[in-house]
Amino acid sequence: MVTGVSNSVITHSPDLELDIFLAKSTLVFKKWSFLMSLIIYCGFTAMDLFRFPPEIFMTTIPVRFLFVIIPLTIAVFVHWTKPILRTRDYLGLNLTVYLNAGVVHIFVFALVRANIDTQYSELGFVLLILFGCLMAALPLVPTAIVSTLLLIIMFLVNSQGNGIALEVGFQVAVYASVIVMCLIINASLKRLLTDNYNVIQQFYGDSITDGLTGLKNNRYFVKQTLLLIQQAKTANKEVSLVIIDIDNFKDINDKYGHAYGDDCLSNLGIILGSVCNRKYDFPCRLAGDEFTIVMYDATQEDIKKVCQDILTDIQLHDVEVSIGTATTLITDDMPAIAIKDILFEQADRALYRAKDNGRNMFFSAADLVT
Ligand code: GH3
Ligand code: MG
Repeated sequence: MVTGVSNSVITHSPDLELDIFLAKSTLVFKKWSFLMSLIIYCGFTAMDLFRFPPEIFMTTIPVRFLFVIIPLTIAVFVHWTKPILRTRDYLGLNLTVYLNAGVVHIFVFALVRANIDTQYSELGFVLLILFGCLMAALPLVPTAIVSTLLLIIMFLVNSQGNGIALEVGFQVAVYASVIVMCLIINASLKRLLTDNYNVIQQFYGDSITDGLTGLKNNRYFVKQTLLLIQQAKTANKEVSLVIIDIDNFKDINDKYGHAYGDDCLSNLGIILGSVCNRKYDFPCRLAGDEFTIVMYDATQEDIKKVCQDILTDIQLHDVEVSIGTATTLITDDMPAIAIKDILFEQADRALYRAKDNGRNMFFSAADLVT
């Protein structure tokens, strides 16, 4: 599930975020394993010329080319050139390569056994399982299904030869062990990457969160405001900034102590969170006793209501705040960072006008006489 106003400010569901991380983390591995496999498989195909008589290689080479080399080349091409965002992107192609390579191997095995007196190496099948289970890196269930399918086909073909049942059973057990081993490695890799992802998320969350109020901090404010402005440019919408600063906070600290001051900041954080009811608006603590709310596509009525609610609610805590607001109609010809700076400067000027006019009020940059 994807929510958000655009590609730039999209917030993905946590599962999708993780999947994108997994896809990115395993892409290099997949790219190289496909490329190396193509090279090695072409080598094996060429070897058919030397190890089989013409009546065999005239069949095996076109079959290998059609069912393995062509899909594998496509897989190499897409993994090296197309954006791959999720673990399941091109999964059908990946599994087709794996399944085809397995079935072709079994076909060559049966063909050789029926026609010439040569023992065809079992090692190739083990390599294919290794390749298939590991290159599919992460989507375990489809890989396990294809592997089991190959195992069954191999068992059926093998049991029709003149090998004794025990021998066939032993071979199948070996293949099954390789499959299970590869899937365990695959699952461990996924677990490891998921743990890494969770740690990264934890650090990232901490790095954009203000410890005292739990609101987002200045770093997040800058990043997200730029994204929102970028989006507003394409959608031709407005972005508004509301800056809130506690009145005479130094005196409150001096009079009641720093811990009481901290409580005031926390309470203001809770209030700002509660007045941000519109979908894309978000509150942040910029620094000290200065906070902001970024509003997307808000009317002047929306902004006034937010300011009024803040002024009313904060009074319940015997604290007063001054507020400055500014709204910019986004224009295409200005970079997002410049728009953000102008917006901030205007809202800050409005805030100081509110301070100059006696505090405990809000002032809009649009009402400033320049
Ligand atoms: P004004 O009405 O003009 O805003 O006056 P003010 O006293 O609020 O002045 P200013 O906004 O410059 O003061 C900010 C004060 O906030 C100064 C600093 O001691 C205090 N402060 C900054 N961070 C914290 C904090 O995390 N906790 C507490 N308790 N106080 C803080
Ligand atoms: Mg202040």
